[in-house]
Amino acid sequence: MALYQKCIPSDYVASIFEIDYQNLKKQGIKSLFFDLDNTVIPYDETELSSQHIAFFNTLKKDFNVLIISNSGYPRVSNALKNTDLPYIYHGMKPTKIGLKKALKLVKSSPQETILIGDQLMTDIFGASRLKMRAILVKAVKQKSDRWMTKINRKIEKMVLKKIKKKEPKLYEERLKAYVEGK
Ligand SMILES: [Mg+2]
Repeated sequence: MALYQKCIPSDYVASIFEIDYQNLKKQGIKSLFFDLDNTVIPYDETELSSQHIAFFNTLKKDFNVLIISNSGYPRVSNALKNTDLPYIYHGMKPTKIGLKKALKLVKSSPQETILIGDQLMTDIFGASRLKMRAILVKAVKQKSDRWMTKINRKIEKMVLKKIKKKEPKLYEERLKAYVEGK
């Protein structure tokens, strides 16, 4: 499988609040992994809001919910300090290391897990490497991307061009709205 194929998400939605979680449950999904930065909160915010906390508490009734972030311990532990969500910091996406650790923590297989994230080159690519489905969301505030993410976004642009050329139907269904910022 070529790299660009591993960067095609199973779905795209504008935000974590718009995913049809009941449908995922029906499909046998047991665990949800969320990226933190720009998936849940932008880089320039330090903590989950009470709305986020209530949202995750509701999801926890039906799923194992875990946060997997490439950020370090201070950022991730502080963001989640008012929750009891399990988390992985220095997640090293798109390598398999952090994701494998996360799967062990929730005792789930990649097939019964979905990763939700805002970046093709870390979140979607990383999940695909473990044959885990991944839902792409729009960055909460793309202007707050950090330098490493800005580089990844440049690579992402090239990959998106390739997907558009090679898989026009999938591009139309799962990526066009993302590219257009919808
Ligand atoms: Mg992110």
